[in-house]
Amino acid sequence: MTSAIPRRSAAETVAVTTGRRTAYLVVLVVLPVLLLGLAVPAAWGWGIGPRDLVIAAVMYAVSIFGIAVGYHRLFTHRAFRCNRALRVALMLAGGMAVEGPVTLWAAEHRRHHKYADREGDPHSPWRYGESGLGLLRGMLHAHVGWFYTARRRSSTRHWVPDLLSDPDVRRFDAAYPAVVALSFALPAAAGGLWSMSWAGAWTAFFWGGLVRYAVVHHVTWSVNSVAHTFGDRPFRTRDRSSNVWWVALLTFGEGWHNWHHAEPACARHGVLKGQLDPSARLIRWFERAGWAHGVRWPDPARLSAHRTDRLP
Ligand SMILES: [Zn+2]
Ligand SMILES: [Zn+2]
Repeated sequence: MTSAIPRRSAAETVAVTTGRRTAYLVVLVVLPVLLLGLAVPAAWGWGIGPRDLVIAAVMYAVSIFGIAVGYHRLFTHRAFRCNRALRVALMLAGGMAVEGPVTLWAAEHRRHHKYADREGDPHSPWRYGESGLGLLRGMLHAHVGWFYTARRRSSTRHWVPDLLSDPDVRRFDAAYPAVVALSFALPAAAGGLWSMSWAGAWTAFFWGGLVRYAVVHHVTWSVNSVAHTFGDRPFRTRDRSSNVWWVALLTFGEGWHNWHHAEPACARHGVLKGQLDPSARLIRWFERAGWAHGVRWPDPARLSAHRTDRLP
C-alpha cells in the first residue's frame, strides 16, 4: 500500500493535525501501557479487593456492551432500531470506553468495512505484507499504530451523514469531554460511597477507571489486529476477517468477526454452534422487552450460502 491518497477517496478522508495525532498517541497508546504496567505492582502491593473488582467488572461490561451493541451494531451498522431512551443509553455506555465520539468511531469503522484488508482500510494487519516481520508490524499498526500514524482520518461528513443529522448524536459529540470525565468519575464515586472513604474512591478510580479503560482498549482493538490475522474463516468474504474464540469471549461476541464481515448488518456475530454472543443475547432481551425492533437476525439460507465448505 502507498500513502498517496487516491483521487476517488479525497472526500472520504480529512487531514489530521499533529496536535491531534499527539493526543491520540498519549491517550490511546502511552497512557494505557503505563497504566497496565502500574497495575501489576499495584495488585502486588495493595491488592485489589472485592469492591474494586465489582466496580471494575461493571464498568468493563458497560464499556464493552456500549461499544459492541451501541457504537458498533446499532450506530455503525443499524442492525436494529430502538427507542430514544435506549439509543441514548447505549451511546453513553459506548462513550464509557473512551474510544472517541460515536461519529468518529462509526466513520472509521464504515471505511474499514468498505476497504477491509485492501488499500483504504484504516487498520489492516496485512498492510506491510505477509512475511513474519511485515505481519508483526501490520498487527501493531492494526492494533494501535493507525491512531497516531495516519495523516488522514475518515470524514464524518462522508461516512456518517445519518448520525450527523441526529440531534442526540450531535449533543453527545459536543458533550464528549464530559462523557469521558464521567467514565472516571462514576467508578470513583461508586467506590467512595460504597466505602465511605477517600481511599475507597481512589482505588476504585484506579481499577474501575484507569486500568479498566486500558484493558477495554486493548481488548476491543484485538478485533482489528487478531481477528483479521489468526483464527478460522468458515464464511466467504473478500477480506481476512476471522473467528478467534478468546477475543469473542473478552469482547462479548465481537471476536466472531468472519460472519460479521460476510453480513455486517446482522445483529448476531456468533452464528455457529457453540459461538457465545452475549451482545446478541442482550439485543434479544431488548427486543423481548419491546425496546428494540426491526432486528436483523441471521437468515439460515444466507448463512449456508456464505459457507466455504458448502457442497456444490
Ligand atoms: Zn473487521
Ligand atoms: Zn463492523
